[in-house]
Order: sequence, then C-alpha cells, then structure tokens
Amino acid sequence: MEILYKSTRGSEERVTASRAILQGLAEDGGLFVPERLPALDKTPEQFAQMTYQETAYEVMKLLLTDFTQEELKGCIKKAYGDSFDTDSIAPLAEAEGVWFLELFHGRTIAFKDMALSILPHLMTTAARKNRVENEIVILTATSGDTGKAALAGFSGVEGTRILVFYPKNGVSPIQERQMVTQEGANTRVVGIHGNFDDAQTGVKRLFADRELARRMQEKGFQFSSANSINIGRLVPQIVYYVYAYAQLLKEGRIRAGEEINVVVPTGNFGNILAAFYAKNMGLPIGKLICASNDNRVLYDFLTTGVYDRNREFYLTTSPSMDILVSSNLERLLYRIAGENPQQDALLMERLAKDGKYEITDEMRRGLKDFWGGYAAQERGAEKIRSLYEDTGYVIDPHTAVAAAVYDEYREKTQDGTKTVIASTASPFKFTRSVMTAIDSRYGEMDDFELVDELSRISCVPVPRAIEEIRTAPVLHRTECGKDGMKEAVEAFLGLEG
Ligand SMILES: *Cc1c(COP(=O)(O)O)cnc(C)c1O
Repeated sequence: MEILYKSTRGSEERVTASRAILQGLAEDGGLFVPERLPALDKTPEQFAQMTYQETAYEVMKLLLTDFTQEELKGCIKKAYGDSFDTDSIAPLAEAEGVWFLELFHGRTIAFKDMALSILPHLMTTAARKNRVENEIVILTATSGDTGKAALAGFSGVEGTRILVFYPKNGVSPIQERQMVTQEGANTRVVGIHGNFDDAQTGVKRLFADRELARRMQEKGFQFSSANSINIGRLVPQIVYYVYAYAQLLKEGRIRAGEEINVVVPTGNFGNILAAFYAKNMGLPIGKLICASNDNRVLYDFLTTGVYDRNREFYLTTSPSMDILVSSNLERLLYRIAGENPQQDALLMERLAKDGKYEITDEMRRGLKDFWGGYAAQERGAEKIRSLYEDTGYVIDPHTAVAAAVYDEYREKTQDGTKTVIASTASPFKFTRSVMTAIDSRYGEMDDFELVDELSRISCVPVPRAIEEIRTAPVLHRTECGKDGMKEAVEAFLGLEG
C-alpha cells in the first residue's frame, strides 16, 4: 500500500516519499510525516534470521513505498558495506545486565552515520525518479558531528555537492581535523568567524534566498537539506531498533513478543522518535526512556507538559545534546494531538513567538510510553568511570548520560524489563572527556597520546576514523566572516561574475 507524506502543520499537499526526501521541509514550514504508520509484515523470528541489510530493506520498503525493490536494495548495499568496521553494522555489547546498541561503527564513529550513509543514495535516487536534472547541493551548518557525517556520506556521490560551514573556534580539535581533511572533489568545508547560531542562521538565509536560487537554477543546481528533520534520515533509524530486538531474540536473551525498554540520549529528538515509530509499527517496546543532559528542556516537558526554551544554555561534554529546540519533537506533538495539524501549528506559533507552549491533559496522556530523565555532566562522568571500573567497558559522554538516567529509572521504578541503551558515539570521538572522567591525571596528555591510552585500557583498537586524521593532509583552509557565506557558496558553484 502506497504511503504518502503530509505536513504536521496542515497544508493539504500530499507527496511521495521520494519528493519528501528531496524537499526536506513541507511548503508551510511543517515536517513531513507518513499518513499512517504501516505495521511490520515480518515476525520477530523472521527478523532474527536476517542480516542488517535485509532488515533495512524489510523496514524501509514499508515507508518508502515509491522506491522500487531494486532501487532500495541498491541504496542499502551502497550504504551499509565496507564503510562500517563490522559486518553486523550495529552490534550489541552487554555490560551490567543491559545491552548497549553500538551505533558508532560507521565512517565518522557516531550514530549520525547510520542515516547519513544512506541519505545521499536515497536523495540521488529520488532526484532521478522525479526527473530532477539539477545537481543537488547540500548546505549544512554544523556544531561538530553532523558536518563530518554528511561530508563522508556525500563525498564522491555523483550528482551531488556538499558545503559545510562550521564555527572556526567552536568545535573540538578532533572534530575540526576530521572535517578539514575530508577528501572528495564535490566537498567543501568553510570555517566561519562566528558561533554555531551564526552559521545556522546564515544557512537558513541562503536556503530562502530566491535570487540565489534563480542563478543556481540557471547553472543547473538546487539546494537540499541533510539535517535531521529530513524523513530520509528518520526512516533508516527505525531499522536498528528492529535489528536489535531480533538479535536479542536470536541469542535467546528474550522470548518472541517480550517487551524491551529502550534508553536514548536525546538532542533533536530524531533517534528516540525512530524508536517510537518502531513501537507503533508493532515492535514490542515498553518504555521509551528519554535522557537529557544539563539542557533538560525535554525532561521538563515530559514531566510537566510545558515546553520552555527560555532558559540558560549550557555547553557540556555531550555537545550533540546541547539543544534547546528539539525540532523532531514536532512530529510527536502532531501524533499526540490526534494528528490534528491546527493544534500542532498553534503550538509551533507559540514556540516561535514566546519560546514556550503547554500541551493539553489529553495530549499528555499520549506521552505515557515515555519516561524523561536527565543527568548532569558530573553524573555522566561518574558513570563512565564506574562502568569502566566494574566491567572494563568504556562509553562516550552521550551514552553515559543515557546510562546514568537508566540507573535512576531502575531505582525509581524497580522495572526489570530487559533494556537496550542507544550508544551514540565511540569513546574515541570524545577521548579527552572520557579519559579525564576515568582519571583526572589524564588531563596532562595530548589528544593523540590519550587515543593510544584509551585503546590500551579498553582493549579496543583505534578506529580507522581516528587513525586517518593523525596523518591526513589538511585539504580545506577557506574561512569567511558571518556575512561572507553567500560568496562562499557562489565561489564553490562557480556563480561569480
Ligand atoms: C546527534 C547525536 C545525539 C542526539 O540525537 P538526536 O537524534 O538529535 O536526539 C546524541 N548523541 C550523539 C553522539 C549524537 O551525535
């Protein structure tokens, strides 16, 4: 059955999956949501016999219904192959009686790879299907992780170019090195003299610039977006929850049909929304435990029904969760408002105007499957240390927030349901925070010494993504002022003069 996509804010437009992927946002500024969530049409026992790639096909075909079998399988094959350092793609590691679902075995060793390694292929396929002949230009502002994952995903993909802006003094040294050493003739990385917000605002302005769009069209280019509101990023994220469940069944850890809980370290609400979709498609998930860091806007929302972004913003050791407006939450609101776009549009208007909104009691009842928690930075650090001392297993600061919140959940609820924690980054990506959490004396070593020491104490080889940047030459040296972003785009696309 064909599934079409519509906007959370109510315009009547219905589009195919491939159109939604190309377009990114709906015309009315809302997010695309599937008209209905299809049910999984394979049993847990059948999933237990499948590889990651087979699982991906069985899940994604249900939501991307205008892609042919051949197209979808082609995208999956290109995405989930050699760029991952394990055949299982998303392995489970057990420690202290819970399973860490390691989503960091892709090119950039963070969970963004799970979706960004397939999005470029979905997008070029979508362009072909819709007879778009322009070259697709991906424009991204990044605070660190997304930029590199998008660069790695789009590098060398025919019919696309990618330009990433990052705050010159606002990302970690390892993150910067990862980006400026990016290969691929279709990639460009520009450091801007400003903060992440400046980069983000500048990118939004470029997307809305009609005069630029017209000149690009004349030269055969059009913009598209790889950020986490694109449905082409959400759908691939449903896959690993189904896969994790099936692996637990295969290993005899659970019975078919037994519910599991999932814990997700949350920022933009994309990853946990994928788990919610998986549950609504019939995967036996009990609680969805939403873990925040010091920026606990989601915790407050889930416990009080009030979303309020007017608060102090903290920079933490889990930077990918330092977010005050979780854009994918809009898709959940739409659902708990009984798929009522007017109500959703009203709440989004309040958010834009007052930075704040409150949901109804009825909507709050729709949140019953969620449990919100938060862990301050020190509690996360303590969790990294204690888990390492008790088991030898080392986790990154984002995953540590989730693990600390889960401890609190267990203590408060006494719920013994088997649990999967989404492990969103390799500890090697945040080596300094991880090592100083384990022992403050590590603070004296330099970044690459710490990498070797982490490898030694955790008995995990240094990931390829880190080995590469030790020696890789710097290929991108362009910098610009906040007001120079348009010229940077023009130079990249050869539009000057
Ligand atoms: C992006 C990211 C998150 C947050 O995921 P959302 O889908 O935005 O909630 C958590 N951890 C890491 C390491 C990330 O890169």
